[in-house]
Amino acid sequence: MDLHPIEIVGRHPGPKILILAGIHGDEYEPIAAVRRLAGQIDREQLTGKVTLVPIANHSAYLRHSRVGTDQLDLARTFPGSADGTPTQQVAHAITGLIQQSDLMIDLHTGGLAMEISPLVGYMLVSDPSTLQKQRQMATAFGLPIVWGTTASLPGRSLSAARDANVPAIYAEWGGGGGCQAAGVAAYTAGCLQVMAQCEMLPSPAAAAPVDRCVIEDDRDTSGHLQLNYPAPHAGFYEPTLPLDSTVRPGDELGRLHDPFTSHTTTIYSTQTGRLFTRRVLPPVEAGDCLAVILEDPAETGTTNE
Ligand SMILES: [Zn+2]
Repeated sequence: MDLHPIEIVGRHPGPKILILAGIHGDEYEPIAAVRRLAGQIDREQLTGKVTLVPIANHSAYLRHSRVGTDQLDLARTFPGSADGTPTQQVAHAITGLIQQSDLMIDLHTGGLAMEISPLVGYMLVSDPSTLQKQRQMATAFGLPIVWGTTASLPGRSLSAARDANVPAIYAEWGGGGGCQAAGVAAYTAGCLQVMAQCEMLPSPAAAAPVDRCVIEDDRDTSGHLQLNYPAPHAGFYEPTLPLDSTVRPGDELGRLHDPFTSHTTTIYSTQTGRLFTRRVLPPVEAGDCLAVILEDPAETGTTNE
């Protein structure tokens, strides 16, 4: 399994950072940002080593799809296996890269189907120094939402990093198809800012201050977006509210129409919070995620603790 990683070895020894793009084949800003990083990182100024994976799941990329020909979601397949299906082999190869790294960043978007408000996330791992490093990396990345979620989810690149005790963050930015220049710029700058925070590069020019919302949510399924607001039936979905709307229980999130009858199901919020993920690809299957609302467990009083 050749991931075609791009390695940039700095002039001085130091931390090894792994940056992943294309874990999902329909998420394009990360792929463009990695290409830009490959051209921008000056090895004369670099301390340590940068390993860039431009398109982790190439078979999914060729299909313009979240998943490859074996229908497995790479972000649910870690640590993978050397003699498994193509996606399992990719997960195994990336797990090897993670185990050889000191730091990891995994870049995503909402893909063709979803739109996600820019956020950077990490697992609420039990090791205090790893958790502290992840908080510092997430803050340095410089996106408006910083979201710590349960460390118990399996199958992610972050799960493999957790098991190898490698500090790791992931990011989400937009989606809905295409490749937006603002997302590419935010991801390129974010990675450079994390490397500067980790003393791998000189500090870049001061970034514009970000109005930041920091939430740590240790509930069982926090961070598992696809479980939220599942479509009650197949249909054609039209979201009602724009991204980042503040919602309360009973607010209308969208309407799901049967395209061949007059039947419509209205989808209502059951939570209070910020609508930070919404379905933008109209055709949906029963069970597809339609929306995710960012709750502050400190306000809802429903933490595990
Ligand atoms: Zn993704």
